[in-house]
Amino acid sequence: MSTEVLAASATDVQQASAAAPAQSATAEKVNLLGMSRPQMEKFFEDLGEKKFRAGQVMKWIHQFFVTDFAEMTNISGKLREKLEKICEIKAPEVVHKNYSKDGTRKWVFRVGDGEGSLVETVLIPAEDKTGSRKTLCISSQVGCALDCSFCSTGKQGFQRDLTQAEIIGQLWMANYSYMEDVPVIERERSVTNVVMMGMGEPLLNYDAVLNAMRIMLDDFAYGMSKRRVTLSTSGVVPKIDQLAQDIDVALAISLHATNNELRDELVPINKKYPLEQLIAACQRYIGKDGNESARKHVTIEYVMLDGVNDHPEHAQQMIKLLKNLPSKINLIPFNPFPHAPYGRSSRNRIISFQKTLSDAGFVCTIRQTRGDDIDAACGQLVGQVADRTRRAEQWKKKVAAQNEIIRSQG
Ligand code: SAH
Ligand code: SF4
Repeated sequence: MSTEVLAASATDVQQASAAAPAQSATAEKVNLLGMSRPQMEKFFEDLGEKKFRAGQVMKWIHQFFVTDFAEMTNISGKLREKLEKICEIKAPEVVHKNYSKDGTRKWVFRVGDGEGSLVETVLIPAEDKTGSRKTLCISSQVGCALDCSFCSTGKQGFQRDLTQAEIIGQLWMANYSYMEDVPVIERERSVTNVVMMGMGEPLLNYDAVLNAMRIMLDDFAYGMSKRRVTLSTSGVVPKIDQLAQDIDVALAISLHATNNELRDELVPINKKYPLEQLIAACQRYIGKDGNESARKHVTIEYVMLDGVNDHPEHAQQMIKLLKNLPSKINLIPFNPFPHAPYGRSSRNRIISFQKTLSDAGFVCTIRQTRGDDIDAACGQLVGQVADRTRRAEQWKKKVAAQNEIIRSQG
């Protein structure tokens, strides 16, 4: 495996498919990492090759974590040479990685120039009655335009959408982190679950997220169960309906408030798609074939903000709101960040909120905070890395100014 993969920035697959067959020697190479199977089949057909090559190459990339075409031994030498010339397999550049004592792993990827072009990915291991899980929390955008008042990503504003290669590259890298020293033939995928709950609003980067999730489910790639891939949204209602048509994955909703007045303040997209519309879209998403699909229920995420949305009356409102929606509720203790206008609800408050919901018959869990020693909570590590970069910049400026003074003094 070449080390280049750690140092390269990803090429957009959307640009890639357009550019593919007629590349000149100096043209940017096509990044195969982010292509879904139909996209890669078309790519091979456009090259004058058989489309089954797509499945073969995808297996090398996503099951054996190979980035060097020379290692793809079931592909003819001639085709390998051709691919070498015009293609590449590149994950986004890792600028920071941290592995916590509790097994949590975290990466910060650089996805462009400038100190703000960073996204993060977190892997959280857990043991339960179904065995051991490794859940990867994937980012979909650099920043976010939706500006929820309790979210550090929202506070950064929106910078850009991630490409398909940058989205699937996060899953590739997390799996690869367990396989680096394993011989190619013995490599296996380690990540068991994916949640699109990192930075950004996945439904506002719809096509790239959809195709990346298709790669996750594809047996020629990660072959993940549809119940183990979850998309989380703050409530982009028309896109929830579109998602229902396009793919079968689990859905999580960032609810965070149980009446429109408060939700307008915490999750501003509520002004466009208020609670009644959101709940109706969730009901449509589950639909009538709920039992055969990943859509048996919707997960409701609810961040616990001290004195804001954690009163007993809010729990009562939630019971009414969700009474006709099969749902599981996950209470998330608020993760503070610098200048955040909120505090985390007390443990007692969270437990009594949970009890009210459980007594009303809901499955209601409290999210454990993990990886505290590596700032693994939502949006925190990018903040830390950006801060260090800023301090390094300030230091460089100070040194340059001092050198200038020394020079001017002769
Ligand atoms: N944009 C999508 C997915 C990314 S946010 C969405 O909003 O669903 C993933 C989850 O983390 C959401 O439920 C979000 O509300 C929550 N979150 C954001 N900031 C948080 C914070 N400071 N503390 C706890 N949870 C937070
Ligand atoms: Fe965007 Fe989700 Fe953060 Fe809201 S909670 S600002 S939608 S990332």
